[in-house]
Amino acid sequence: MKAAVYFGPQDIRCTTIPDSVLTADHEILVKVSATSICGSDLHLYRGALDAIMTKGKSQTGHELVGEVLDVGKSVSRFKKGDRVSMGYSASCGHCYMCQVGQTAHCETSHKAVYGFGVPFGDLNGTHAETIVLPYAEGHAIKIPDAVSDSAALTLSCNLPAALIANHLADIRFGESLAVIGCGPTGMMALDIALHRGVGRLVAFDKVPHRLAMAGRKEALAIDPSTEGWKEQAMDITAGRGFDKVIEMVGFPETLQMALDLVRPGGTVAALGVFCDDTFNLNLADVFLRDISLHMDGFANVQPFMWDALRMIERGVISPQDYFSHTYSLSDVDKAFAMFHQKSDGAMKMLISRP
Ligand SMILES: [Zn+2]
Ligand SMILES: [Zn+2]
Repeated sequence: MKAAVYFGPQDIRCTTIPDSVLTADHEILVKVSATSICGSDLHLYRGALDAIMTKGKSQTGHELVGEVLDVGKSVSRFKKGDRVSMGYSASCGHCYMCQVGQTAHCETSHKAVYGFGVPFGDLNGTHAETIVLPYAEGHAIKIPDAVSDSAALTLSCNLPAALIANHLADIRFGESLAVIGCGPTGMMALDIALHRGVGRLVAFDKVPHRLAMAGRKEALAIDPSTEGWKEQAMDITAGRGFDKVIEMVGFPETLQMALDLVRPGGTVAALGVFCDDTFNLNLADVFLRDISLHMDGFANVQPFMWDALRMIERGVISPQDYFSHTYSLSDVDKAFAMFHQKSDGAMKMLISRP
């Protein structure tokens, strides 16, 4: 079958690999209808996670909507023909960590994540014609026909992550919020914050068309590479700083931005995927200003998929609006390049069957 494989930095491409087959009773086999590329996949693409990927073998992709082709003997919740999506981490639903909602830290699958190499369980990826989902009943969900493929696949990662950001930041009516990073997940977090009645809102990004999109959603849109960006943002909080900050990028510099922007007693929810080992945290500053810092890039999306699905079904949020380009699986290398370069108004890539 065809599947995307990691060959090295900026070299993820479609190749032929052995067909997916069921090997355990708890697995299901799914034909991929549509998938996409996550911001976290760009860390793979630029080579920041080169050490965890086996070149020429590790598959990529963790966002899925598809059709069940076959189920293992112990699977009763799914049957052939069901339309499904799944959480990006293969959680069992039964272990201690799953029971307390920390599904990304599942003790049964040992924190297995689709498409992220041997240290994360050596699982297959969604950038493929078919995929095997182990412990499927723990983290896969049925998708109603009325939900589009593009909306449904955001249930694997982006949309629940955006919900988690709002949940961790605990955004209340009228509070001021800064969102750092206006990619798809950042924009979905911004949409949800508006539904929660957020007050003054600032959005940061360096990519003009992404900033413009945030600007059309009531946010003061600021490019942090321009002179005076911080003063411009702080002005709308009377210099006090933001009640809440959502960080959706994953670099030490953007985490520092979040800490610089939050007011005393405020909360930072950092959902970016951080690849650096160290960060020069000013402990006294965080202590003296009573900052609450939540790091959750390795997000426990599974418990939030149900809320996310209800929001899509009721039209509260339209994640399908953030898809800008469509590619076939054979052209997954072109999709990665476009998403990485962020040219041509690139927002989110849909990789679907012709
Ligand atoms: Zn993701
Ligand atoms: Zn578990």
